Amino acid sequence: MKSMEVIPGIHLLSSFLGAGVWGANVYLLEDNDLTLVDTGFIGRSGQILRKVADLGYAPSDITRIIITHYHADHIGSLAMLKKVTQAKVLAHPADAPYINGRLPEPGAAGPKWLGRSFTHFRRLWSAIATSVDVLVNEGDELPVLGGIKILHTPGHTCGSISLFCPSRRLIIVGDVIAHRFGLRLPSKTFTEDIAQEISSVRRIASLDFDVVCFGHGSPLRHGARNKVSDFARGLSLPS
Ligand SMILES: [Zn+2]
Ligand SMILES: [Zn+2]
Repeated sequence: MKSMEVIPGIHLLSSFLGAGVWGANVYLLEDNDLTLVDTGFIGRSGQILRKVADLGYAPSDITRIIITHYHADHIGSLAMLKKVTQAKVLAHPADAPYINGRLPEPGAAGPKWLGRSFTHFRRLWSAIATSVDVLVNEGDELPVLGGIKILHTPGHTCGSISLFCPSRRLIIVGDVIAHRFGLRLPSKTFTEDIAQEISSVRRIASLDFDVVCFGHGSPLRHGARNKVSDFARGLSLPS
């Protein structure tokens, strides 16, 4: 299946419009060089690089890999992609210790409910520790597509980031919002602080954009701002 060009210069590489077989969605940002956003589960690097080749690029054209947060469905193929591309890895300092292995992932061996017998799933949940080259913080701007602003949007994880591209009126929100049969919060099981998470959704809703790209689910390209505003308005803290 071909990758999908969300808007000119921004491709969704995952198959089935983000239905999840790759783990999280993987985006490719095309400028003078290439930037990947997230990497899917472990074992996806070959498929990702094939899609990059289909677009006419070599692995070495990828110079940065931005990680929205440390969960294994986003960093699974990071180690292999970094090795092949020699790209710099960018992540927020609060999540970096879980990506580079300095701290054990909370629930590192996989969610407890998977149990020991689900070895296949447990493998998907273990990523190879990979060094983070550039720590990115709230307000940092990357020289990609006219400027990509880093927004610190914690809650799902303490170092979750969103990538706001005002010139393309587009935001990549990682797992802060999921798009599955409508907009949703990420799974509570995997969310560290639900109050922070809701504040982050409200913050995203206050921005000006036309297109939203999610870690899970297909991009929202029509009426995105209103839909996210309505979603944020309907959220309340669990009592
Ligand atoms: Zn995810
Ligand atoms: Zn996640």
